[in-house]
Amino acid sequence: MTRWFTALCLLCVALVVSLSAQTPAPASASSPAAPITVIKAGRLIDPETGTAALNQVIVIEGERFKAIGANLPIPAGAEVIDLSKYTVLPGLVDAHTHMGMTYKEQPENNYYYLTYITDSTPLRAIQAASNGMQLLNSGFTVVRDVGNNALYVDVALRQAIEQGWLPGPTVIPSGPMIGSTGGQFWPTPEMYKQHNIMFPEYIDANSSDEIVRAVRENMLFGARTIKLCIDCKPWGYSVDDIKLAMREAATGGCKVEGHVQTAAGAQRAIDAGIYIIAHGTALTPEHHRQMAEKGIYLAGTDTPFTPYRGTEAAYKRAIDSLRDAWEKKVPLTYSTDFDYWNERMKDPKTGRWLTRGELTIAFLQTWKAAGIPPADTLRAMTINGYKAADIVAERGPIKPGLFADLIAVPGDPLADVDALRTVAFVMKNGMVYKRDGVMTPADFFHPGPVRMPNGRWTR
Ligand SMILES: [Zn+2]
Repeated sequence: MTRWFTALCLLCVALVVSLSAQTPAPASASSPAAPITVIKAGRLIDPETGTAALNQVIVIEGERFKAIGANLPIPAGAEVIDLSKYTVLPGLVDAHTHMGMTYKEQPENNYYYLTYITDSTPLRAIQAASNGMQLLNSGFTVVRDVGNNALYVDVALRQAIEQGWLPGPTVIPSGPMIGSTGGQFWPTPEMYKQHNIMFPEYIDANSSDEIVRAVRENMLFGARTIKLCIDCKPWGYSVDDIKLAMREAATGGCKVEGHVQTAAGAQRAIDAGIYIIAHGTALTPEHHRQMAEKGIYLAGTDTPFTPYRGTEAAYKRAIDSLRDAWEKKVPLTYSTDFDYWNERMKDPKTGRWLTRGELTIAFLQTWKAAGIPPADTLRAMTINGYKAADIVAERGPIKPGLFADLIAVPGDPLADVDALRTVAFVMKNGMVYKRDGVMTPADFFHPGPVRMPNGRWTR
């Protein structure tokens, strides 16, 4: 009996050893044998204080930071990555974008009703996966993706990245935008009544019951934030409607962002104490004053005037508005509202198409034109972004215990924020995605194991 038991145990051990040899856990799987990586950082920026420390050692165990400091001992067997020529800083955040929507001049004349008809949900999911990798390549490790994502493309992308199918930023998905009848569409009666064109691009929710149902459905299907059309129609949401959505969202741990396009809508969102206001165009200096007082985040979507987008007049308004919000001390985030493409989106020097990441970082132009100091721009792109995404307790800052996301750039972004345009190194969850300016995503691609919602990896 004892001999049989011993033999059985040996067989089990052999089986486990051989199985684990065949299916190695990804570097990010946390286990006692999690690999140790050490980064030697020439300069390490703390965006919270706007300061930098020289010659820091960052110890990473598995997918999390373990220790950060000068002259830390390097553990035996650690992989050492030498970034002593670089400035290391936390990953960047686009606090308002749309990875699963690309409207174009041809064939749809920038009319996204047509994009919605020509591009299926699966196609848009693949666009979103590609956009996510392009954003990660430019140092964006967190993205709030807030609506216009067909049938929960944003949620699927979050899950695919989280489960380990492919590399990409941490996605904070909203699911479809919730609005009163019509959302941002002005459909014909035929398209509205006979073809149900609103869903899944928008969820019509008018009464209190419908608002509660819509918020619950989005959370059920995986939303991590809730997006409301406050004033997309003259029959937009009241202060009470917004408060109701916020209460309901809180039951599922979600904060609420309001799309705002009128001064009256902005005031209702502020009066309700909403978490984030998207789009700065309708905001007055008085709105900024109230937002600062209440600590309401601004995702201003501050589009620069470039050869491929914008007008000089709109650009001037965006600069003035961003400048005023900064002067009033509104908690600012970096945001783009990117969801379009045209053939003029080329590097003027080389003629090469710009990537989604390069197009996103190009919004720095507005921040520089508004005279925002680099330290404050950096804070908007990092700390404020993590807080607006409501993830600051688990990832973002380079602190022991948090997920190991970081980037490195040549130069010093605290002196010249344009240094962020050239990201040479990207780490996400302790895995290297870009090294010496070249993407190295191979380690992220594997057919399993899959990370489950409880954070464990399947075996
Ligand atoms: Zn948007």
